[in-house]
Amino acid sequence: MTIQSPPDDQGRFGDYGGRFAPEILMPALLELDEAFHEAWADPGFHAELDELLANYVGRPTPVYRAARLSEQLGIDLWLKREDLAHTGAHKVNNTIGQALLAKRMGKPRIIAETGAGQHGVATATACALLGLECVVYMGAKDVERQALNVYRMRLMDAEVISVEKGAATLKDAVSEAMRDWVASVENTHYIIGSVVGPHPFPLLVREFQKIIGEELQEQMDQSPIRPTPEVIVACVGGGSNAMGIFHPYRDSGIDLVGVEAAGHGIASGHHGASLVAGSPGVLHGSHTYLLQDEQGQVLEAHSISAGLDYPGVGPEHSYFRDTGIARYVAVTDDDALDALRVMSATEGIIPALESAHGLAWIMAAADELQGKTVVLNLSGRGDKDVQQVEKFGG
Ligand SMILES: *Cc1c(COP(=O)(O)O)cnc(C)c1O
Repeated sequence: MTIQSPPDDQGRFGDYGGRFAPEILMPALLELDEAFHEAWADPGFHAELDELLANYVGRPTPVYRAARLSEQLGIDLWLKREDLAHTGAHKVNNTIGQALLAKRMGKPRIIAETGAGQHGVATATACALLGLECVVYMGAKDVERQALNVYRMRLMDAEVISVEKGAATLKDAVSEAMRDWVASVENTHYIIGSVVGPHPFPLLVREFQKIIGEELQEQMDQSPIRPTPEVIVACVGGGSNAMGIFHPYRDSGIDLVGVEAAGHGIASGHHGASLVAGSPGVLHGSHTYLLQDEQGQVLEAHSISAGLDYPGVGPEHSYFRDTGIARYVAVTDDDALDALRVMSATEGIIPALESAHGLAWIMAAADELQGKTVVLNLSGRGDKDVQQVEKFGG
């Protein structure tokens, strides 16, 4: 398969991206880039991947018209049901792809970092499926708030390492995983969970996730009985579910809206809105928008949902933002909680808190969206969040 709109030789999308990594990792990044391009051009690799996506993950995921919500909001609202993918979110599209790639490269050991636990579960799943050793780094705070996911990973024979350093959340787990990789790169592949990190990760994660948007094109644009989307909405943590659904539409002129976490509100400073309220800098190997103070110190992000609790964002989104290919907005914790309740009560679908940010924006923008065909990427199911939602009461 040919790659549409690839980054340049340095892994840059416009001003963003690149390969800001320790010298010792350069050979591994170059090897990965080469292995990915070689695999992507090989029909045998796609046959194996497609078979697993169809019969193990359950793709294509349905697109479902949310009739009651549509009526309530005056919008023709459709849900791309990534919550129905095996493991309950889109992340497995990427982990199976990268695990297959690792196997092809002859690397029997996988490491990963995880925030909500979803990427850890998706990685442990892919490793169990393909018989690879799996080590997952997780911030101690996240280990606590996502205990069930920790147990899931251990059931699937992954080793979970709790990271106590720094804020003990995702950012710190990423640093520890990087440290491991520097020491183990000979036999280890690092499965990054979003369209972030040094080149070629933003490219290859995008390629593994863009099946979401490609399916949507078949299910809606090319369907004789369904409308073509006018607005596509997705939440943005690192940005993989959003990039996955946006990318096939990047030249379509369709309104692409990425929804970040406004946490306690942008003005409070406690949020995860790197594109809305951040500025360009270098984080985890790439040049991108991030949350930083005047001295360039990376700030801690805040979101009620661990999946959006990250101070950076994938570099291609930074490029999309500056060029206007997509626009980015932000939604508070409270509005996301409210949207989670609305979708649960109105459709019988409990969305992930991450995905609820997308619905919260749609609800807030309902006046502007009247009568339009809007697709929300329902990136995951909310079972993992139910206890937390209960704690917030209301
Ligand atoms: C991890 C996660 C996200 C955020 O990650 P992206 O890379 O921005 O997609 C969003 N939704 C769900 C359900 C997740 O698990």
